[in-house]
Amino acid sequence: MSALFDLTGRTALVTGSSRGIGNALARALADAGATVVLNGITPDRLKAAEDAMAADYPEGRIRSCAFDVTSDTAAEDGIAWIEANVGPLDILVNNAGIQHRMPMLELDLADWERVISTDLTSAFLVGREAARRMIPRGRGKIINICSVQTDLARPTIAPYIAAKGGLRNLTRAMTAEWAGSGLQINGIAPGYIHTEMTQNLVDDEEFNAWILGRTPAHRWGTVQDLAGPAVWLASSGSDFVNGQTIFIDGGMTVVV
Ligand code: NDP
Repeated sequence: MSALFDLTGRTALVTGSSRGIGNALARALADAGATVVLNGITPDRLKAAEDAMAADYPEGRIRSCAFDVTSDTAAEDGIAWIEANVGPLDILVNNAGIQHRMPMLELDLADWERVISTDLTSAFLVGREAARRMIPRGRGKIINICSVQTDLARPTIAPYIAAKGGLRNLTRAMTAEWAGSGLQINGIAPGYIHTEMTQNLVDDEEFNAWILGRTPAHRWGTVQDLAGPAVWLASSGSDFVNGQTIFIDGGMTVVV
């Protein structure tokens, strides 16, 4: 049974993994045996993340490749570098994402486009480049990191909601075109996760009480809660799972 979830010998790229959820997902895949390529755009932060992780795994298992996921040429060059210097890419996690809070009436076009480009178009660009390599080999796993906002709206985050909703349908579109070539493309939609980035929300008594009441599990998620589903969707254990978005949200999206 454990062989189903063993990623030994596989090469994985996790975009936006210099910190946060992406870094935790990278660790989960490395713990399951994969060679992992970290990615981000800030070189110093990426190098620090690579050094910190490399100390915990055998030599050569943690690599890094800085590129901007919103650029088609950078995505092309990044994937080409990985294939030439690390190995054939087996697993891609499209995780890089940003948030921008502003009521829609005051929202600039440039900010709308920046969020759509980072949270949605990037998955098309990096996914397309990865699939161009995976399809001739007849196998590959792509995991798109969605959100509860894939399904539910909230005021002041319109471009994020549009992007994350679009990402679920992009997951389906990729499945329609690439599943027949042996690729599995699925989404993970994390709920509210307690990280450094959300510590201020956890510390906000009113918001924290709302989360605990709104979540059937009555707690925040942790990055460890995402590890099992990520390893499953990256492994042979999910070879007939196609085009699904799995909500890891303590039940938030199934109750009102
Ligand atoms: P963080 O802000 O902690 O990290 C974002 C990562 O993305 C960083 O590594 C950053 O690199 C990288 N990044 C941003 N823009 C680009 C770009 N253009 N090209 C390459 N890398 C880029 O994010 P989170 O960990 O909070 O979120 C990660 C993903 O999870 C996002 O898609 C988010 O929407 C989703 N999510 C998060 C939730 C949460 O509770 N935090 C809940 C649900 C979903 P650099 O440091 O170089 O800028």
